[in-house]
Amino acid sequence: MERQKRFFIKTYGCQANVADSGEMAGMLEASGFERYTPKTAQNEKIELEEALKNVEVFIINSCAVRQKSEDKVYGLGKLVLATQENTGRKPFVIMSGCVVGSSTGARKLTDMGLLQKKTPWVDLYLSPADIAILPRKLYEVGVITQSLSSSLSYSIAVEDPDWAFVNISTGCDNFCSYCVVPYARGAEISRSQEAILADVEKLLARGYGKIMLVGQNVNSWGLEQKDKLAIRIGQDLPTPFVKLLREVHEMAGLESLTFMSSNPFDFTSELVSTLKLPKIHNYLHIAVQSGNNAILKKMNRRHTVEDFLALLENIKQAVPNMEFGTDIIVGFPSETRGQFMDTVKLFEQVLFKAAFISKYSPRKGTVAQRLYPDDVSPKEKSARHAYLTKVWQKHRNK
Ligand code: SF4
Repeated sequence: MERQKRFFIKTYGCQANVADSGEMAGMLEASGFERYTPKTAQNEKIELEEALKNVEVFIINSCAVRQKSEDKVYGLGKLVLATQENTGRKPFVIMSGCVVGSSTGARKLTDMGLLQKKTPWVDLYLSPADIAILPRKLYEVGVITQSLSSSLSYSIAVEDPDWAFVNISTGCDNFCSYCVVPYARGAEISRSQEAILADVEKLLARGYGKIMLVGQNVNSWGLEQKDKLAIRIGQDLPTPFVKLLREVHEMAGLESLTFMSSNPFDFTSELVSTLKLPKIHNYLHIAVQSGNNAILKKMNRRHTVEDFLALLENIKQAVPNMEFGTDIIVGFPSETRGQFMDTVKLFEQVLFKAAFISKYSPRKGTVAQRLYPDDVSPKEKSARHAYLTKVWQKHRNK
């Protein structure tokens, strides 16, 4: 008997990509595919080689946030071609995620032709906005023989052993000066409440009690543009996201509820008090990016260090056992040692449970890449990265 067709998804980057991978996995499973799990996961290269040899569909869900993550994706070509040479066959290779998004859509930064030239081993490119048409695309090229009638007819697959991710919005309109996401993922679009609750219900029915609502800016889910701007300049309005949280919180079978990512400028007092609900997880990831106000301004972040600290204080008053994680960029253009030390000071003041510290890397087409010379040397960036990591570890282990 012919064995079931198999797929493998390699996911790079953030929770939005993890959620997209879950969605694609669900569609492939509903189309009769079986997920392939490499047996020898000693290292990434061996894992990928094994998957390439054993699957019919191989998906690379790419990340373009840093040059290093983008280069990793291009590097996969060597493995794909070596497998073809050694075995005489090659799976159907799909590239999705932000590398594709940066070359498609209204806000594209690079030319699709350029991406195709760099990755001739890819059979299908799928931008983050097009995930839902994966089954139709595979049907059109004959990889699957039965078309699914609607994108809602598949069940979501889970990519994380602890949390089931549900995408509530895609894209971003914030245009932080260093960030490629508003171009790669396009405009901020909120999924409908109906679709989100249906996904959550399916996951709860399958026994996944821990739900994470995912998006680039979850707090602004469902907000009209004018209200979004009003909140960002300090108005304290009721938000649809709070209603959504409360709705999901009451669903039968829910054990724990969390959300990611959040920006400091999108929190309202109503949201802070909603965090007191008993099933809201006691960890929040709020990106601060720098501990210096001049750098935050250059980053086009709409908050100051003082705003961030006041927000944390308010949350702590509402939920005393709340823990925090954050994202930081070191070596942003023109960041002096003194300005970097302000970030160190922030880390001495706030005990972050998790900190994603990255060295600034210019991303083509972004405002920072176009306007600000990348003038902090690689050596200095590495030294700041190592120093801040040490400070974080020291405070975490206190
Ligand atoms: S909020 Fe800023 S950092 Fe986050 S995705 Fe949007 S532009 Fe990028």
